[in-house]
Amino acid sequence: IEPLTLALQVPYKDHCHLFSPRCVQSNIVLLTQAFRKKFVIPDFVSFASEIDALYENAKNLGGGQVADYIPQLARFSPDLWAVSICTVDGQRHTAGDTKVPFCLQSCVKPLKYAIAVHDHGTEYVHRFIGKEPSGLRFNKLFLNEEDKPHNPMVNAGAIVCTSLLKQGASNAEKFDYVMNFMNKLAGNEYVGFSNATFQSERESGDRNFAIGYYLKEKKCFPEGTDMTSILDLYFQLCSIEVTCESASVMAATLANGGFCPITGERVLGPEAVRNTLSLMHSCGMYDFSGQFAFHVGLPAKSGVAGGILLVVPNVMGIMCWSPPLDKLGNSVRGIQFCTDLVSLCNFHNYDNLKHFVKKLDPRREGGDQRVKSVINLLFAAYTGDVSALRRFALSSMDMEQRDYDSRTALHVAAAEGHVEVVKFLLEACRVNPVPKDRWGNTPMEEAVHFGHHDVVTMLQDYNNKYSPPGGATEDKEKEISEKNIDGLL
Ligand code: GLU
Repeated sequence: IEPLTLALQVPYKDHCHLFSPRCVQSNIVLLTQAFRKKFVIPDFVSFASEIDALYENAKNLGGGQVADYIPQLARFSPDLWAVSICTVDGQRHTAGDTKVPFCLQSCVKPLKYAIAVHDHGTEYVHRFIGKEPSGLRFNKLFLNEEDKPHNPMVNAGAIVCTSLLKQGASNAEKFDYVMNFMNKLAGNEYVGFSNATFQSERESGDRNFAIGYYLKEKKCFPEGTDMTSILDLYFQLCSIEVTCESASVMAATLANGGFCPITGERVLGPEAVRNTLSLMHSCGMYDFSGQFAFHVGLPAKSGVAGGILLVVPNVMGIMCWSPPLDKLGNSVRGIQFCTDLVSLCNFHNYDNLKHFVKKLDPRREGGDQRVKSVINLLFAAYTGDVSALRRFALSSMDMEQRDYDSRTALHVAAAEGHVEVVKFLLEACRVNPVPKDRWGNTPMEEAVHFGHHDVVTMLQDYNNKYSPPGGATEDKEKEISEKNIDGLL
């Protein structure tokens, strides 16, 4: 079991259960991917330790206020802090208080919107609700110029959205219906309900009642809606409990186009997921949404209990949870974590995946793949296959990679006397012309040793022409500039 566990790169604590049928079944997606050796984060162990460092960094952060408008929230310690990650192929990592239940509160808004679109389609849902950030506080009594709520992430929009769920059914059936979705989104991990929170929300919910009456007056609900029972359901959905761990699976289901990464089940359709992520991106972080979209560039939704549901589309779902909130209502530690994550990794929607060299790309293959790629590269240099080399260079392969003996493609091509390859590596790829292998030999020495005079002349000419200022350093950072993309072609 141990080697398999290592192969899975999952920091499971209970290895001994790994092969029980129950375990296999509940991890079927993960196991399938493991056997295919295809994970979206190939080196998950290293990635997890980077996450731990970000977690620790945010842990020391003070400031912020725990919400105290109801006693159920006021009771949470300001020291609670948790981060959980679930990738689209089911790799998991958690740090901190990840098993403590807390209420989704506003984090449920994108989820119920997703259910509404899944059931009715975009056109129907947006007959009732807009798609535009409101620029106003989330619980503002305000509608857009068409007398619709601005979007489903503010209270007015979320209340109308609640009225679209399983219309005609009783509140009990509606609640069960939504809970069933929540369980599936979370891969059957912890989803609970805090009745005390529900009662308190209802008792202290004057603003939401005011919004409800205003929506009713403006005919924002589908015909026949009982507004007060919709408000009840709204408060109940705010009171659904998760843990950081289970909510990370919910986020991962969104990251994975609606398929739960733990069970493999399709929970939501692609249209519902895409809409939801778009609106989380533009409206999910209260009055910080624009800045969050700018700095973090990822869809997210925060709630008054201190949760931030963060989605890295096609990669992973993350839940951050820490009760102290900043002035705009977002978790102080959560915001720090999200910002740090995107400074470290190229997860911002507009980070360029190919050329933004300074950030970590955890999606990149390490280890095995690197070995394969250096073998391919040196083999092409050995056989004189310029077109293979051109393909590698155009796919951003590092053309200066070294094998175990520190030999580069240029060493090999020079030793074999492949003038065209040497020319291509030097002129199109601009590789370092004087790398030293583990015995201290340069490509020039190889060419001399094996008597390839044309290669020697070419290397000499090149060195005379482009003697780099300050001399070529072996680990000099190189990029294929636009200018020599032409050369590659
Ligand atoms: N129960 C809260 C309300 O509807 C939710 C607040 C929030 O998480 O933003 O006012």
